[in-house]
Amino acid sequence: MKQAIVWFRRDFRLQDNLALFHAVEFARKQDAKLIFVFQIDPYFNRGKIELGNQYFFQAVHAFMKGCRSLGISFIIKKGDPVSSFQELFDDYPDITAMFLNEDRIGYGLQRDEKVKEAAEKYGISWYSYQDAHILGPGEVLKGSGTYYEIFSPYYRRWETLPKQPPVKLDLSLLKESAATYDLHQQDPILKVYHSEWRTGEKAAWEQMKNFTDKILYSYHDTRNKVHNESTSKLSPFIKTGAISARTLYFYVRGTELNQDGKNAFLKELAWRDFFQSIFARYPESRIKPVNSKYNAVPWRENREYLKLWQEGRTGYPLIDAAMRQLNQEGWIHNRLRMITASFLTKNFLIDWRHGEHYFSKKLIDYDLASNAGGWQWAASVGTDAVPYYRIFNPVTQSKQLDPDGSYIKTYIPELRNVPITYIHEPWKMDEGDREAYGCPSGREYPKPAVNHHEQRKLAIEMFQTAEGEN
Ligand code: FAD
Repeated sequence: MKQAIVWFRRDFRLQDNLALFHAVEFARKQDAKLIFVFQIDPYFNRGKIELGNQYFFQAVHAFMKGCRSLGISFIIKKGDPVSSFQELFDDYPDITAMFLNEDRIGYGLQRDEKVKEAAEKYGISWYSYQDAHILGPGEVLKGSGTYYEIFSPYYRRWETLPKQPPVKLDLSLLKESAATYDLHQQDPILKVYHSEWRTGEKAAWEQMKNFTDKILYSYHDTRNKVHNESTSKLSPFIKTGAISARTLYFYVRGTELNQDGKNAFLKELAWRDFFQSIFARYPESRIKPVNSKYNAVPWRENREYLKLWQEGRTGYPLIDAAMRQLNQEGWIHNRLRMITASFLTKNFLIDWRHGEHYFSKKLIDYDLASNAGGWQWAASVGTDAVPYYRIFNPVTQSKQLDPDGSYIKTYIPELRNVPITYIHEPWKMDEGDREAYGCPSGREYPKPAVNHHEQRKLAIEMFQTAEGEN
């Protein structure tokens, strides 16, 4: 009997999964059986398993467990992907086809090309789908057939283009098509880590409904507030594929809510597609500024400052609260990503690539293109980025975004008893205040490592130097 592989990578859901949907159709028409595969590639988890990867493996573990309850087993392969699949092709000579949702950028793209070549040598047909994005790279182009580099015109075009509606899988067909074998494989990497973040399709749908019921109507107004639930917090689910961006788009568009909230949200989903498109156009986006003018910015090497930033000890409460939240939970609000990125690059004058790398390890929603795009935006070196002279003031931002200091107090226990007068500028407290508010010498919160106004001037000079060299 014919067999076909379904290779899951970052699409851990049953509904609206294009590769799975088409594989089940194929199995029905060709009377074939499906083999579900997860491949553990050492490229993605060298060394310590950081927060971001822990969440990912937790999500994979939960998905497999759910599949097992439907009678579907996975084959887990480990090591070099090409060798893994060659072994599978040798072990299961009836395999005639392979289904997967494609990667269009980065290492994933190169890996897929190699595995495809190996599959073709075995005479195995390759079926891959653009599933991860509402509109993928190359699907939103200018009339001239070239890529957009500015978001606004990209978005105007994105809005008008037809989009693939979600597909509904018949679970009884899925169960019938799954090959049965006695493998109940597991790998020690796949387990439940300690995370407050939920995983999986059911939780993702609950989160989406909760967000649309309670928050979406005011999202356009409140999405920049950092101290309460103001955004969907769906990014970890999107990253692991527990819900598709398509499903989210059609669900939100179909709600009976005011246009402003809906439009603002759909625009954010378009940013995700935009950054993917930019990365496809500029494959070196992780290491090279898209705006080549800023290749020559003379960033400063300062290991000590980098460490202060990473550990949340810069002396600026909002920055430190955000970095501590990132270290503990693997997620921070978009606005805080912008402000912490700005602080590293324009206050500490440190190369954005260090920050990009740090976020890539910690974020449970880490996405190659959105992270590189976000960092290039905040560091003013990308396409359509914030101008280098518009630099966030960490105190003003703190007062605006966390007016009562409740967010700061959640993540900085040293400041828990400090009143609102000082919470954004604790260095203004005298010894008596510090004593009174529970942060006496020796246990106090650090003083600011740098002066914002002085550093702002230096940052502008740094960019002007780069401009002068062009
Ligand atoms: P919501 O506001 O509810 O938005 C809904 C969805 O839209 C998000 O889940 C996300 O998929 C998408 N989205 C929203 N804003 C953006 C944006 N600016 N760029 C791209 N997509 C967006 N997002 C990631 O998913 N992974 C990353 O690694 C990542 N790194 C970032 C690094 C920096 C320096 C910056 C400034 C932004 C980064 N973002 C990243 C974008 C954004 O911060 C997150 O997508 C967002 O905070 C996720 O929270 P949410 O789901 O509540 O967002």
